[in-house]
Amino acid sequence: MSCQRAQELLNSHVDGELDGFHVSEIEQHLDQCHDCKLDYNSLLDLRSSFKDKSLYYRAPSSLQNRIRSSLHEEAPVDVTPRMTLRALSNRRNEGS
Ligand SMILES: [Zn+2]
Repeated sequence: MSCQRAQELLNSHVDGELDGFHVSEIEQHLDQCHDCKLDYNSLLDLRSSFKDKSLYYRAPSSLQNRIRSSLHEEAPVDVTPRMTLRALSNRRNEGS
């Protein structure tokens, strides 16, 4: 695996989103490549710092209530499609 490819996959690896094949590939690379390993460790540090509970702030209940009541006041959203799939398909065929 190239450093460029490893760099592309580092975030996904830190987030545990890679499949087994890519995990073993990137782990092999990290064992051999000091620079990518440094980046990987930095990402791990960054990730763990975001888990710090002091960064989280619970909104006061007055704010939660205001948001909830404003949602009830809004008019229902019009979800009627502006154009049917058939009309879209016809329009696309006209172009060709
Ligand atoms: Zn590398």
